[in-house]
Amino acid sequence: MIEVVSKDRCVACDVCIKVCPTDVFERGADGVPVIARQTDCQTCFMCEVYCPTDALYVSPLAGPAPEGSPHADEQALLAGGAFGAYREVVGWGRGRTPGSRRDENHLFRQRL
Ligand code: SF4
Ligand code: SF4
Repeated sequence: MIEVVSKDRCVACDVCIKVCPTDVFERGADGVPVIARQTDCQTCFMCEVYCPTDALYVSPLAGPAPEGSPHADEQALLAGGAFGAYREVVGWGRGRTPGSRRDENHLFRQRL
């Protein structure tokens, strides 16, 4: 479920607002998206994948992170390299190799 929008990383491009299939975000007065309807999140990771600056964190939890959870702690997530981690696995973003071109995916296909 979507947990954090990093104001420090966000460039207010609106892409996450546009790609979210369940309209979770609202544009804030400063252009940075606000998580307005968190429980509508489907944990699809589309916002995280499309964010050009790795400013979003979608947690693997099915519901909102409980009070004190590291999944909602921006500094802990930053320290752990969690922002854009799913996007990195997919291989989107500057300097990354798309998953479809990586060897492990070719091996996976051979098993099918
Ligand atoms: S994970 Fe999917 S449903 Fe949730 S906020 Fe991002 S785009 Fe919207
Ligand atoms: S996609 Fe990323 S940079 Fe663009 S508005 Fe959303 S959080 Fe900000």
